[in-house]
Amino acid sequence: MSAVKMDGKALSAKVRGSILAETEKLKAQGITPGLAVIIVGNDPASEIYVRNKEKACVECGFYSEKYALPEETTEEQLLGLIAQLNESPQISGILCQMPVPKHISEQAVIDAIDPRKDVDAFHPVNVGKIMVGNFDFVPCTPAGVMELLEEYKIDPKGKECVVIGRSNIVGKPMSMLLLHKHGTVTICHSRTKDLAEVCRRADILVAAVGKAGFVTPDMVKEGAVVIDVGINRNAEGKVCGDVDAAVLDKASFMTPVPGGAGPMTITMLMKNTLKAAKVQRGISE
Ligand code: NDP
Repeated sequence: MSAVKMDGKALSAKVRGSILAETEKLKAQGITPGLAVIIVGNDPASEIYVRNKEKACVECGFYSEKYALPEETTEEQLLGLIAQLNESPQISGILCQMPVPKHISEQAVIDAIDPRKDVDAFHPVNVGKIMVGNFDFVPCTPAGVMELLEEYKIDPKGKECVVIGRSNIVGKPMSMLLLHKHGTVTICHSRTKDLAEVCRRADILVAAVGKAGFVTPDMVKEGAVVIDVGINRNAEGKVCGDVDAAVLDKASFMTPVPGGAGPMTITMLMKNTLKAAKVQRGISE
């Protein structure tokens, strides 16, 4: 039996449609959500991500500003721009595309963004809020995975959830979101012993490793839900995930790459920006 492919592209279009509808209502009250996107240097992958974020802003009816800064921008200059955007009434959310050039501290950039405008949810205040379970913004990739699970009526409650990867942007927040939904969560990483055995316990297995074809069928329980967060390039230069295609025959549900978790990420950024615009004006729903 082949797994149901969880269609992130279709869900993404649906969610963007509902964001646009909400934006139209807000605009009627004189409020336009605004996103500022900053990119420093000329990383080609980052440029594609930024372009896609600008396109998504148009689709959702948002106002947007893009700041493409040269590689030699100093940390002081970048923090100065962020300070200005923190004060700008047109801007609800601020995003600085990572990675930034090595002479700039990533953490200093994250710390400089007003937590109320931190739509990536990387600021320590928002990380702490996720930990305690009282948050406005959810990191975009894990948030997208949770929406996909909900769409396909997969409830983590009481299930064995195994997350491979413990990064601050994917693995850790992913684990917390599954825990908040009452999953029994195990976080694996490069020092985990008997990884395959731990993974075989999973009812829901999330791979966020960054290695093409890393998860093989012997690591997957029959009927498990397999979420592939990885975005890699194989030997032929084709985009692929962390999960071997043969896992499709063992899983009950699986996210394809491309077209699964990936498209949801930017959509969740839009959702956070809409939320920011509302929260900043005291609108709760
Ligand atoms: P990181 O490199 O920051 O983290 C990778 C994690 O995988 C680490 O925790 C690492 O363990 C773990 N790992 C590496 N090798 C092994 C191994 N042999 N066994 C077990 N664990 C291992 O990556 P990210 O979290 O940033 O990204 C993960 C993947 O997701 C990438 O492919 C990235 O491109 C993709 N991604 C996709 C997004 C999307 O929009 N869908 C957004 C963000 C990322 P340790 O901590 O011990 O080193």
